[in-house]
Amino acid sequence: AKRKSGEPLREEEKRRITKTSLRQLAGIFRFMLPYKGLFITGLVSLVLSSVTLMAFPRLSGELLDIASGKPKYFTSINEAALALLAILFVQGIFSFIRVYTFSIVTERGMADVRKSIYKKIIWMPMTFFDNKRVGELMSRMVSDTETLQGAFSFTLAELLRQIITLVTGTIIIFYLAPTLTGFMLLTFPVIVLSALIFGKFIRKLSRKTQDKLAEANIIVEESFQSASVVKSFTNEIFEVNRYSKAINEVVGTALHGARYRSLFVSFIIFVVFGGIVAVGWYGAKLVQVNQITTGELFSFVLYTSFIGFSIAGLGDIYSQLQRSIGASERILDILNEHDEAENTESSPLKLQGKISFENVSFAYPTRSELTVLKQLNFSIAPGEKVALVGQSGSGKSTIINLLMRFYPIQQGDIKADDQNIYNFNLTSYRNNIGIVPQEVILFGGTIFENIAYGKPGASADEVRKAAQQANALEFIERFPEKFDTVVGERGVKLSGGQRQRIAIARAILKNPSILILDEATSSLDAQSEVLVQQALETLMEGRTTIIIAHRLSTIKKVDRIFVIKEGMLAETGSHAELTQLDNGIYSNLLKLQLQ
Ligand code: ADP
Repeated sequence: AKRKSGEPLREEEKRRITKTSLRQLAGIFRFMLPYKGLFITGLVSLVLSSVTLMAFPRLSGELLDIASGKPKYFTSINEAALALLAILFVQGIFSFIRVYTFSIVTERGMADVRKSIYKKIIWMPMTFFDNKRVGELMSRMVSDTETLQGAFSFTLAELLRQIITLVTGTIIIFYLAPTLTGFMLLTFPVIVLSALIFGKFIRKLSRKTQDKLAEANIIVEESFQSASVVKSFTNEIFEVNRYSKAINEVVGTALHGARYRSLFVSFIIFVVFGGIVAVGWYGAKLVQVNQITTGELFSFVLYTSFIGFSIAGLGDIYSQLQRSIGASERILDILNEHDEAENTESSPLKLQGKISFENVSFAYPTRSELTVLKQLNFSIAPGEKVALVGQSGSGKSTIINLLMRFYPIQQGDIKADDQNIYNFNLTSYRNNIGIVPQEVILFGGTIFENIAYGKPGASADEVRKAAQQANALEFIERFPEKFDTVVGERGVKLSGGQRQRIAIARAILKNPSILILDEATSSLDAQSEVLVQQALETLMEGRTTIIIAHRLSTIKKVDRIFVIKEGMLAETGSHAELTQLDNGIYSNLLKLQLQ
């Protein structure tokens, strides 16, 4: 969503610049605090370079006055020209210092902002990720920080520079030619007001054109994405007509706007140059009666053009500021969110692996009306293997989510080793739980890095041993680069079974007391299945294990099966016990699957 500065702001970006919003923008300033020395150096250079440059018009006029024999400050043209060069040189040095120091401050400061946002988000509880779309979060990190970077490196400096030019310029022309300034000020409101009113009207028209264009683009997007639908209905001609009609509407509104814009352009040129004619006319008369010199008139005209440019620049800066305030508000929103960061430091904790749910009721914060778990009670002994069985949506994953402390529970207690899990340090607690997920997610990087993710800093030996126990060593060694093989989007694509074994190796390295296996729904080929199953058995040894079971065939060996129905424990028992039940849920499920 990057836009050039000249483009109109979207509705949501049109924020009024208020005291509070400026204070918000200032909230970002704390990231600049570590670099305040450099920042102040930059500011001082900015002021000095802007002020120095303001001597330029006056000295240029002085050149003319020396030529016509009415010098004020210098005696020779050469002297004055040298002074002009000196001014350029000095302001050049200050500009260099300003741009360079501001760049250092903004680059470092924004890097700090980016790191802070990232750190903040990655520590957020799961509820945060449920509420916010990941795309939106990425956009905050990318475009908002870019916008802010622009604000700090450019907009603020420009704002200050234009204000200095405006103020000192106005003071100078008042001093230089008071009557001419007074005369000019009469023409000024006409120009500014007409530009503002007309400009607003034009912007409204151009927004209309943009909306029409967006409508046309939706047609393109939809029809290209569902090309198969268009083609199967042989609706190409229909779509072409639809698009042509939309594009013609764009042209219509654009041309409607163009009429006014052309009028605006010629009007503005007329008014601005009319103003120049008026000032020139009046100025020439003043020169005629010797009230001012030619050089002073020349200086005056240069100053007013400086002032004019700075006023025009301020308009642009205003919209950039609005945009930056929006960005900083969104960034501060994130930075001010409550997070789990207080739990970053872990303390040693080694659980035995007893788990109990006592009267646990739960609804997801995003869907509070739906009670997912209802008065759930169960206890799992250390080292026991339990399978959760039940229809999709019955609450199996939710049980795991709660055990992981991804969500706070509303009622009841969840205990590990007979202690409330919320009393543990979060990081240490989670370090005791290992998960082999349904869909194994590998990070871009090598196989080694992906396995070592289970224990950052693991040695080559440890990783190798884990891979071996996970039945992964063989296929890894078949790659030419072995453990250094790059996987993920930019590397080798591993099969489902291979990914599973990487995940198992990861979990082995983590060496958790409690293990969660979310069984893959899609079945592996027979050989892979055997290898994965073996690896899982190694992994489960001596660990409390909860299996979210999708294929009943794999859970016959567990100690107990929990049949979950609508968030409640409907049946518990071993496979043998549950199959004995007449018309039991488990035995019915089993029959269904066998069919
Ligand atoms: P299972 O794992 O047995 O398929 P889940 O525990 O995933 O069932 O889901 C139980 C219920 O909770 C379902 O109705 C589901 O729609 C809902 N649910 C699951 N995850 C969330 C979530 N993050 N936010 C809101 N509702 C959810």
